[in-house]
Amino acid sequence: MREAILAAAREAGFELAGIAPVGEFEEHRRFEEWIAAGRAAEMQYLEARDEAGRLKRSSLQSFAPWARSVIVCAINYNTAQPYSTECKDASHGWIARYAWSREDYHDSVLEKLRRVESAILGGVTSSIETRCYVDTGPVVERIYAKYAGVGWIGKNTCVIHQKAGSWLFLGVILTSLELPPDIPAADRCGSCTRCIDACPTQAITAPYQLDAGLCISYLTIEKRGSIPEHLREGMRRQVFGCDICQDVCPWNRKAPVTAAAEFQPREGLVNPALECLAAMDEGGFRETFRGSPIRRTKRQGLRRNVAIAMGNSGDAKFLDTLQTMSRDGDSVVAEAATWAVEKLMRKG
Ligand code: SF4
Ligand code: SF4
Repeated sequence: MREAILAAAREAGFELAGIAPVGEFEEHRRFEEWIAAGRAAEMQYLEARDEAGRLKRSSLQSFAPWARSVIVCAINYNTAQPYSTECKDASHGWIARYAWSREDYHDSVLEKLRRVESAILGGVTSSIETRCYVDTGPVVERIYAKYAGVGWIGKNTCVIHQKAGSWLFLGVILTSLELPPDIPAADRCGSCTRCIDACPTQAITAPYQLDAGLCISYLTIEKRGSIPEHLREGMRRQVFGCDICQDVCPWNRKAPVTAAAEFQPREGLVNPALECLAAMDEGGFRETFRGSPIRRTKRQGLRRNVAIAMGNSGDAKFLDTLQTMSRDGDSVVAEAATWAVEKLMRKG
């Protein structure tokens, strides 16, 4: 059964797959501490609790007591475009690599995961339970990825595989089947601290510890309203997410690229011109980002981020656009643009 499942995962398009036992691992305890320390910032969904008051994400017991194994599948989404650390044009911004794809990765990965699930259900005679998740369930996928041997959790908190790197989408299948687990992936970060040193907002406060409230990914995607002023300069020109701690990781130096059509970038999303993003009206935003994770930040959020990126560009050519944005009907966008104007004027 185990070999059949792993073969079905490969057939569905996953480069990596493994099986983790259900358990409460030391990483779950650290997750609880992380929540208790307020490191999840305003992401309250991470703090969801069951009726007994236990964090849902720290145990499968509360919402899937029938689960005995977790099948973890990973697919590479890296494409042949440069890394953010290689793109120096100050009039352009950065959208995280995972958000370039033509289709919403939740849908395309889930569809592949369902194929694996069908193979499992077709291979057993007794009744079993299964459930598939791509980012959507109360499961900390990366913990199970480690225990399924898919990759270790790096100091930047991403799952890393020694050959595939860290540009990986993860999907998990919980099953009531008792399957022989894989060996947990060994940590290969060694004495490296590149991600910690490169993080512009010092969000990796210690090896393996991320303060989400400082992380540009959180600030540009999840944070609603105004971004704290002291963090804006560190955001540089990231307008949706941040790839820096993965771009500098030596395990991504030779990361393979995928030929899968659904992960190839949409036109204009790789290192996009800030002026184009600022000029996008509501219809243009909907059209450009149809089915894209970028919709999560909404047009107002993207405009807020673009205004900050323009302020950080040091380029006075954005002053006219920013002056217009400073009169925006959305007070958060207007305030960010005013900040950016003042920053560019100070420089001038
Ligand atoms: S995603 Fe960016 S801001 Fe967040 S930890 Fe990595 S380098 Fe720092
Ligand atoms: S940059 Fe270095 S320390 Fe950070 S995740 Fe990669 S190998 Fe680990």
